[in-house]
Amino acid sequence: MTKKKHIAIIGGGIAGLEAGSVLTRQGYKVTIIEKENKTGGLLNHWSSLFPDFSLPGEVLARIQPENPDLTLIHNTCIESIKKENGRFELFDKRHLKLYADALLLATGLSVFDASLKEEYGYGLFINVITSSDFERIHKAGQKLLTAQGDPPKRVAIIHCVGSRDAKVGNGYCSKVCCITGVKQAIAISRMLPECEVFNFYMDLRLYGSKYDALYLEAQKRHQIQFIRGRLSEVSENQDQSLQLKAEDTLQGRPLRMQADMILLLTGLEAARQNENLCKNNHLELDENRFFKSENMQYHRNCSRQEGIFMAGSCICPMSVNETLDSARSAAIEVDNYLTQKER
Ligand SMILES: Cc1cc2nc3c(=O)[nH]c(=O)nc-3n(C[C@H](O)[C@H](O)[C@H](O)COP(=O)(O)OP(=O)(O)OC[C@H]3O[C@@H](n4cnc5c(N)ncnc54)[C@H](O)[C@@H]3O)c2cc1C
Ligand code: SF4
Repeated sequence: MTKKKHIAIIGGGIAGLEAGSVLTRQGYKVTIIEKENKTGGLLNHWSSLFPDFSLPGEVLARIQPENPDLTLIHNTCIESIKKENGRFELFDKRHLKLYADALLLATGLSVFDASLKEEYGYGLFINVITSSDFERIHKAGQKLLTAQGDPPKRVAIIHCVGSRDAKVGNGYCSKVCCITGVKQAIAISRMLPECEVFNFYMDLRLYGSKYDALYLEAQKRHQIQFIRGRLSEVSENQDQSLQLKAEDTLQGRPLRMQADMILLLTGLEAARQNENLCKNNHLELDENRFFKSENMQYHRNCSRQEGIFMAGSCICPMSVNETLDSARSAAIEVDNYLTQKER
């Protein structure tokens, strides 16, 4: 019997887990290396998922791969990759060395640091929170309260924070934050039916199946108000409520509003270590610092380095179901590569 080929997967988010589970079912030996002490990636922090408010735990329970051919290594951040004699060597800070016949990158996303947009007051004004903060509060089963301990009577949700913004070096659209904003507006309205919720958007990009229906539900059933406007500045009143200055871009005039709380929909960035991983081989990043595909249309999961593949949101921002599809198609590419190499 021929020895089973070994595939190393960097990143144990849903992309890495799903690809690992498909590949072990196909008969490969797989090692998933995760830098945190837990697999699941960002999904561990979200309270419910658009567009159907299903629980992230249900997705994670379905894809926790259990197979004797699958090894999970936690608390290990892969810093560099080397290819020698057709095999890959992976290194972390402690000089862990791992050999593999093929490599799958599933390093996922980072969330934009909202304090870099100083004019929006995150980290300066206590009643300014981010979309990730809201998910964590909601997941913990806590009520949304202002710093003064009261339920907010008015919340303003701001779209495109750290996305479509050349000033912070992210000119691209993060794709999933408009629908996250609709989901969170509904969640706030369900939690606090008396609260007025306003979403300030540049334009609404609701690209996915059932996203438009959720947007209509937000307006009709929850009376969420969507204002086409660009926030310019936030200031704090003496009672720690907030004052927003924006431009209503439909009416073409300046707009001011008082709010008890502001929620910033922060953009998505490629994982920070990606640049290191590109050194010493033919891996490339695209203009937005995500891994560059060999071909955008036909070989989205293939890199320019033979034997290295990519899955999920390390290619570009993606929703959960797109990430799972991407992981499955990456597994097919890896299998094709190893099967052809064997012949
Ligand atoms: C606020 C917010 C809310 C969202 N809500 C939804 C929603 O409701 N519905 C939905 O469909 N999508 C939602 N998303 C998108 C969703 O989070 C992504 O689709 C999903 O996390 C992508 O999974 P992934 O495995 O590609 O990446 P990640 O979840 O980022 O996982 C990547 C993993 O790789 C690890 N890693 C990275 N680099 C290394 C390294 N060098 N060595 C070892 N390990 C490494 C990380 O620690 C992480 O565990 C939301 C996103 C945000 C920001
Ligand atoms: S998805 Fe919406 S909020 Fe996110 S960057 Fe694109 S337009 Fe802005």
